[in-house]
Amino acid sequence: MREGIIIKGVGGFYDVLVDGNIISCRARGRFRKDGIIPMVGDKVKINSEKQYIEEILPRKNQLIRPTVANIDFLGIVLAVEEPEPDFYLIDKMIISAEMNNIEPIIIINKIDLGSPEKIKSIREIYEKTKYPIVSISCKEKKGLDKLNEVIKGGIVAFAGQSGVGKSSIINLLCPEKEIEIGKLSDKIKRGKHTTRHAELLCLDNGGMVVDTPGFSMMIINTLEAEDLQLYYSEFKPYIQQCRFNGCVHYHEPGCRVKEAVETGDIPKERYDRYIKIYTELKENRRDVW
Ligand code: GDP
Ligand code: ZN
Repeated sequence: MREGIIIKGVGGFYDVLVDGNIISCRARGRFRKDGIIPMVGDKVKINSEKQYIEEILPRKNQLIRPTVANIDFLGIVLAVEEPEPDFYLIDKMIISAEMNNIEPIIIINKIDLGSPEKIKSIREIYEKTKYPIVSISCKEKKGLDKLNEVIKGGIVAFAGQSGVGKSSIINLLCPEKEIEIGKLSDKIKRGKHTTRHAELLCLDNGGMVVDTPGFSMMIINTLEAEDLQLYYSEFKPYIQQCRFNGCVHYHEPGCRVKEAVETGDIPKERYDRYIKIYTELKENRRDVW
């Protein structure tokens, strides 16, 4: 048996990438019996002569809309200008990524439109997190080397508001694909393309890109308000030092996280949105996700 990765699946046939070659396979009937449907991104063992997928290896994560498995990086794209960044959405995307065992990459696009001060102020919001921050301009083809370097060897998907440049980034990374700029993500938003199947596109650096821009918010039903703090990587150095066990860094005295906000070691606006999201979760207002 040989090991590969499903890069495309249409009508019961799966393209499996094995050592640089694509082998079209069907799935064994027993998968369906067991309620397992092979997904793009699945690492599989195949019988290459009979062209059957024999085994699906355990998934690191699986996303819906579009369905895809084993994502390593979520490129969270924002634009310096046009549209104005929605940091509340960005913070939630970071949380979703972290919960799904995906490393967020903050991608600041359209730097050709924004002032250096504004770009700097956006970087400052996220520089205390552990995530890579990449500033790029699709228009001027700037910064893409750095992005390529960060995603090397991994599977990357892109998310972000409509119009931030997700399709443009995918096209620049994989020029042979040609996604319609300024069109696709809007259609997905309107629900017309919801049945679209994602495909993985191969990069020269060994990485792969999910060809569908605009992952919808991964809805988080399981997140407890008390656990929200675990997904704020810049809180980590302080959490253990709070006076009370189980401090949620809100009204408690002796809270080191709040102290770090006061001294500027944690950006205040990240903390303020943490409180907003904490309150939503506490009140079980998950509809806003
Ligand atoms: P998506 O909705 O996130 O997939 O965004 P698109 O890739 O469709 O881009 C939306 C619009 O922004 C298009 O008109 C693009 O040409 C434009 N755009 C994308 N990247 C840049 C950039 O770096 N600078 C400028 N000025 N415009 C850009
Ligand atoms: Zn605290």
